[in-house]
This record gives sequence, structure tokens and C-alpha cells, in this order.
Amino acid sequence: MTAEHPLETDESSRNINPFQVDVFTLFPRMFEGPLDESILRRARERGLIEVRVHDIRDWTKDRHRTADDSPYGGGAGMVMAAPPIVSAVETTLGREVGQVPVFVLSAGGRRFTQEIAQALARETRIVLVCGHYEGIDERVAEILGAGQLSIGDYVLTGGELPAMVVIDAVCRLRHGVIDAASIVDESHSASLVEYPHFTRPAEYRERRVPDVLLQGHHGRIGTWRRKRALARTARWRPDLIVRQPPQLGRPPGPSDEEP
Ligand code: SAM
Repeated sequence: MTAEHPLETDESSRNINPFQVDVFTLFPRMFEGPLDESILRRARERGLIEVRVHDIRDWTKDRHRTADDSPYGGGAGMVMAAPPIVSAVETTLGREVGQVPVFVLSAGGRRFTQEIAQALARETRIVLVCGHYEGIDERVAEILGAGQLSIGDYVLTGGELPAMVVIDAVCRLRHGVIDAASIVDESHSASLVEYPHFTRPAEYRERRVPDVLLQGHHGRIGTWRRKRALARTARWRPDLIVRQPPQLGRPPGPSDEEP
């Protein structure tokens, strides 16, 4: 009784073991679109990833398909009830219950980082449970042994967008989804934000691309990029610099921001 995402996959090019994501939500249609475009669409068509979107209401018992109720102790809003969610996840996972990592998206959860994305990309299957309204009955996470993930220090209306953020960040790290070289130096891969990029034209509105990038000397380009990455990190994300290993050298000064 699952509402699978409608995008069809090309069975002939399917890998034997695609990375599988099972998403549980009250709003499955929200996932149409982001997963149907660009890199994620191609990865799905090539059988590298498989995203199944399940409607939690399919596991409700009453004719109104009620999945929420008022909070014990009073207060505003509604809380998503435990039974349909737990049944949905347990039925879907079957014998894999307890072996597949389950995460509830939660504004107050552990901060989702590139490091967590890398760890999840090493799994073969993950489960994401999207909250809505005031959130999810706490017993869901307890019973399912779920972690709680937050995509940032702000509150959204539901866990669907956060789930899509997690899916995107994790799936692009899977082997074959994007060019492996693209992943090596990018932001947060070494506690740094990335250096700036430029493409043609070499001059635009009186702004020239830094000469070093036009000269084709890979050693100098590497040094320049490293300095710019450090300078940007110091300026915009100094909290990352303190985590740098000692061999990375002095913290950049203001002049490092110059091309
Ligand atoms: N009452 C909750 C609180 O104060 O933490 C906020 C509930 S929020 C309106 C509804 C749902 O959106 C949450 O259950 C969660 O699934 C999702 N959500 C909202 N902000 C999020 C964030 N920053 N990261 C992950 N999920 C979030």
C-alpha cells in the first residue's frame, strides 16, 4: 500500500543494488518535481538511486484517514500520531527493521552536515520520516530507534523540504551520480568553504578573471584556490577554521581575499 514516486525508471540500466530511500509523509506529492529533474532524475533513471515516497495515511484505520490528534498537556496545533507512522515504517522495512537507519526530520534534531551526508551515503538504504503541524509523537523515534535530523536553525512547516535536502545531499555522494572529481574540493569536504569559480568570458563588466586561472599552471592554481578557500572560510565561516588540522598553516589575512 505504498504511493511510490511516479517517475518511471529505466529497468534495463538499473543497478543491482540502487541506494534506496524510503520517505514517509502526509504530503507525497510535494516530492514530485525536485526528484524529477536534473542529476537526481538521471541517477534514478540509471538505477543508482531509488526513492520511494509513502503516504502515512495509507496506514490509518478510520475512514477519514486521520493521522494527527491534539497534544496531551494542551497547547496549539496538532501532533502526528504514532500508530500509523510506526506501522508504515515497520511494514515497509519488514525483516530489515532495526538494520536500516531511520531518521525523523525535526527542527530540534541533530544538525545535518556534510559529514553526516557522507556517512549516510555509505549505507544501502535509509528511511526519512517527515513531520508536520507541531511535530511527531515522541514515541515514534523511540520505537523505531530513529535519529532526529535538523537541516538548520529555523522552523519550516514540514519535514518534506528537509527530507529533500537530505536526499539530494546524500544521493549526489553515491558512486556514479556525479563526476567524482566534483566532490573532492567542494565546500565542507575539508572543513572549508569552496574557492570561487569563473567561466567565460574572461572579462565581464570590467571585472577580469584572476590572471592565475588563465595561465594554466596547475600548481599555482591549486595554491590560489587553497588561499581563497581559506580566506572565504575565515570571512564567512570562521567557526570552521578552528576545526582545521594544524598542517593547513596560518589563518588567512584580509589580503588573501584579493585575487
Ligand atoms: N513544534 C516544532 C518545534 O518547535 O521544534 C516545530 C514543528 S514544524 C512546524 C513541523 C515539522 O517540520 C517538524 O516536525 C519537522 O519534521 C519539520 N521541520 C521544521 N523545521 C525543520 C528543520 N529545520 N529541520 C528539519 N525538519 C524541520
